[in-house]
Amino acid sequence: MLVNKRCTYCGDKFQAKSVSTKYCSHSCNQKHYKHKEKKARQHLAKTDEITERHPFSERLELIKIKEFLSINDCAILLNVSPSTIKRLISKGDLLSFKILGRVLVSRKDLDALCKKSINKTTVKKVAKKEKEFDEKNYYFMGEISNYYKISQRTVERHLKLKGIKKIKKGRFNYVLKSDIRKLYGAPNIKN
Ligand SMILES: [Zn+2]
Repeated sequence: MLVNKRCTYCGDKFQAKSVSTKYCSHSCNQKHYKHKEKKARQHLAKTDEITERHPFSERLELIKIKEFLSINDCAILLNVSPSTIKRLISKGDLLSFKILGRVLVSRKDLDALCKKSINKTTVKKVAKKEKEFDEKNYYFMGEISNYYKISQRTVERHLKLKGIKKIKKGRFNYVLKSDIRKLYGAPNIKN
């Protein structure tokens, strides 16, 4: 059954095969699509223009409530340069998508990246702290043997027995002073 309709683009009457057909031809469909795309692009450009004419504080407020951000928006939010944002995108660290030729980032993805980076940095710092070696807190094996008048071999045996950890730094094996004091008491030196 054919339905009498009017083309949404050119306004001509035509007979459509279904009620949902909007255009008399593929060409009208295409032209309307292009027109809508152009309109949308102009609208985006306009919004940007308005944003740029606003005082920075107001622009920031606008950016904060946006769901989708431009590269410049992201840069402002993270207080970094737009090229940093572009690098994050090209490395695949920050998800982005293109709409009408413009690169956009969803606020959710930007927040997720920040959260991930903060966690990573914290973990790194903690790991570093654990690994930090301060010689002040350690005796090296020769010292222990000297201070307590015990042969290094015996010290080694005691450490093994008590499950006390040695740390190798350069040519020396170090043991925590607190561990040795627990084992042998205070050494016979001023320390
Ligand atoms: Zn038409």
